[in-house]
Order: sequence, then structure tokens, then C-alpha cells
Amino acid sequence: MFEKILIANRGEIALRVIRACREMGIKSVAVHSTADADAMHVRMADESICIGPAPSSESYLNKAAIISACEITGAQAVHPGYGFLSENASFAQALQDHGLTFIGPNAEHIRIMGDKITAKVTAKDLGIPVVPGSDGGVSDFETAIGVAESIGFPVIIKATAGGGGRGMKVAKNAAELEIAFRTARSEAKNAFGNDEVYIEKYLQKPRHIEIQVFGDGKGKAVHLGERDCSLQRRHQKVFEEAPGPSITPKMRAEIGKICADAVAKINYIGAGTIEFLYEDGKFYFIEMNTRLQVEHPVTEYIFGVDLVREQIRVASGLPMSFGQEDLEINGHAIEVRINAEKLPNFSPCPGKVQMFHAPGGFGVRMDSALYSGYSIPPYYDSLIGKLIVHGRDRPEALARLRRALGELIIDGVETTVPLFDALLNEPDIQSGDYNIHWLEKWLAAQF
Ligand code: ADP
Repeated sequence: MFEKILIANRGEIALRVIRACREMGIKSVAVHSTADADAMHVRMADESICIGPAPSSESYLNKAAIISACEITGAQAVHPGYGFLSENASFAQALQDHGLTFIGPNAEHIRIMGDKITAKVTAKDLGIPVVPGSDGGVSDFETAIGVAESIGFPVIIKATAGGGGRGMKVAKNAAELEIAFRTARSEAKNAFGNDEVYIEKYLQKPRHIEIQVFGDGKGKAVHLGERDCSLQRRHQKVFEEAPGPSITPKMRAEIGKICADAVAKINYIGAGTIEFLYEDGKFYFIEMNTRLQVEHPVTEYIFGVDLVREQIRVASGLPMSFGQEDLEINGHAIEVRINAEKLPNFSPCPGKVQMFHAPGGFGVRMDSALYSGYSIPPYYDSLIGKLIVHGRDRPEALARLRRALGELIIDGVETTVPLFDALLNEPDIQSGDYNIHWLEKWLAAQF
């Protein structure tokens, strides 16, 4: 087992990894930018090291500085968290070249899944159902119109290098396609430095259902059921739950097995998420994330496993501590993402937190790096905490979420908490009857 792990991240996810390290008796090293000198992950780690100035391109994305930090501190492995370098194949490769372990899949798997077209082709070859669309990149309008006519409008144009819900355009007819195709390409070029796009059937009322998988890198893999992440704003998740209210045990077992078999076949190592759109009883692959997800705690709650601990175990060469037969769902879990944002526009709202009080009690988990007196810097993601609740069933989890939200105090900055207070009053949320468009429609009707 590793003696020391460096965490190449900040905020709540850095704390999450430090906690797992501490429980495993592993020393932790925090890295931070100059803007994060007072951050909680720096205080909580055993050691810390400054890796650059505030902009993430010069600090949290600075591969050379992170590798130097490993050398200076003697860390043997790096946990990348999510975001930043977590899906950067060349970083995973560079660590390996320096005799360090990347706690995540190998560079090749990251590369395959990071390119959405290659990912889709690979998924299809592995027996995973995919969304109908172009079989590869589309570079001219004639081909685009041909594809759209064969699969039928509406279609969605997506950037091969896309991520974070950006770089997608919907077209309902040929005229719209012409404009959408052109703007999607130029936006993709600006955002990702790559103008390659592909086309998919635009599903009208799907749910976003994702399957958590985990492999040992030696041909063994399991699935840990699904998460329903359909409540989204601008294709970004805000509320996630497990198990999915619309998924039956039979469907879970079927799609779960397809996913576990697929990753076992490629000797995938560690945690991964295979994302689907789910409509009329059918699953359609959209992408695979080769890292720990923001919403992993809902899965941890219902299965009673620590996914970060498991990632560290397999990265160090140990076998997985559970098999498929050990994994049984217990109850229901919900996560809400608390962002420092001002409603109704969700504009970022960094600043000083005068007072922070985390909710507690039975079945409540608050993953946050906030503390009273902390100044949220303006340079990074606006996620400041995740409130996760567990109950014996969905109604109990919802009641607990309402209670826990009522206990949470974050004074000094605006947050998305009032959004969740309001959502809990909605009959569709109470019954679990929502799809990927529900939240946008609801927001449009409110404000
Ligand atoms: P990203 O990598 O940017 O997160 P994804 O491919 O995972 O992009 O898609 C993000 C979200 O966009 C999905 O959860 C869904 O809401 C929407 N979306 C993506 N593809 C389609 C599609 N073919 N039809 C309808 N909605 C889609």
C-alpha cells in the first residue's frame, strides 16, 4: 500500500480523498494555488505545497508543478479527484513515466473515452446500446443533412471534445441544422481547440441514467447500479438520486451486467461511469467518464462501500474488496449540489462566508470545504458543498433532505439552497416523475 498520496485537487473532493487516506493510514499531501492558501484541504492534509498562482491553468492544471510536488514530498501516487487533470491522459502517462501511480484508469482508456466519437464506437463494439447518429465526425453540411434525414429530426450536434454540458446544439429542421452546424463547430473550436462535431438523434423526453462501474484492471468488474441525474440546468446536474425512480431491478441487472462485462473485457481499472439517456424502456449510451463522479456519494450510501478507498486499493495492486454478489441496495439516497450562485440567473457569487453550519444527524452527509470566515475565491467552480441524505425509502430520503436543508446555514454568500427548498414542494419531484427537460421548464415558469 502507498505511504503517501498527493491530491491534485481542491475543495470538497480534496477533503473526500484526504478522509479516505486517513482512514487507511496513508499520509496525504495537499497542493494549492496562492489563492487557496487558507483553504480547508490545505489545513486538513498532513502536508501541503503551493503549486502556482490563482488561475487553474497555472496551478491545478500545471502537470510539471504537480509532479515536482510529488518528488519534493515523496508522494507515490496522485488522486486527481474530478475535473482538472482527472481525465487527462497525458498527465496519467507522465506520472507513470516518473514512476508515480495515477489513481484512475490507464492513459489509453482515458484517451479512448475522452474522445466522444471513439468512445461511442468502442461502446458499440463492447455491446453497449448507443444513440443513433453519425458513425464518426461530420465535417461538411451535406453529410450532416444526410445523417439528419436518415435518423430523423430533431438532431443534436455535439463536440467530439465536449464536456461540462458545453458544445451542444439542437436542430429541428434543415434550416436550423445549417446554422446549428456552423455555430457548433466554431464554438467547439473556441472552447476545446477542436472543431470536430458529430450528430445524434435528439431524444425528446429521456432521463439521464448512469451506471457506476468498478474494475480491478485484471478482467474483473462489477456494477453498482444506477444514479438518476435528470434534474439538470444547461446540461449540468443539480440533483441526483439512487436508485433511479424509474428503474426496475430487472432493468438494473440487465444494463448493469452489460456495463460490467464491457469494462471487464478491456481490463478497466478503478471507478468509471457509463452515462445513458433512458427513454421508453431503452438505454442509449452517451459517454463514459473515467473518474470518480461528483455524485458518487449516493451510490456509496445505498451500497455501503467507500469508492475512494476502493480506488486507492486497486491502484496499489490489491484486489477489490467486494464482488457483484456482495453488492446489495439498501434504501434510497439523494444529493443536491450547493453552488455559490445567485438565483434566478445562477450567476456566480463568491465572497466571504460569515457563518457556516453543516446539517447533521441520522442519514445526513455534508461534503464541503467551507468554514466560517472562509472567503470563496472567484477563480474556480461554484460548487461549495454537496448535501447527501439516505433513507430507508425515497419518501424518507426526501423528508430527511427537507429537514437537513433547514439546518444548513451559509451566511454571507448567495447559494442554490432556495432552489432545493422550492423543488421539494413539487409533486413531480415528490413522485420522481421528471426528465432531463423538467428543471429548465420549471425554472422558465418560475422566473
Ligand atoms: P457532457 O460531456 O458535456 O456532459 P453529455 O454527452 O454527457 O455531455 O450530455 C450531457 C447532457 O446533455 C445529457 O445528460 C442530456 O441532458 C443532454 N443530451 C446529450 N445528448 C443528448 C441527446 N442525444 N438527446 C437529448 N439530450 C441529450
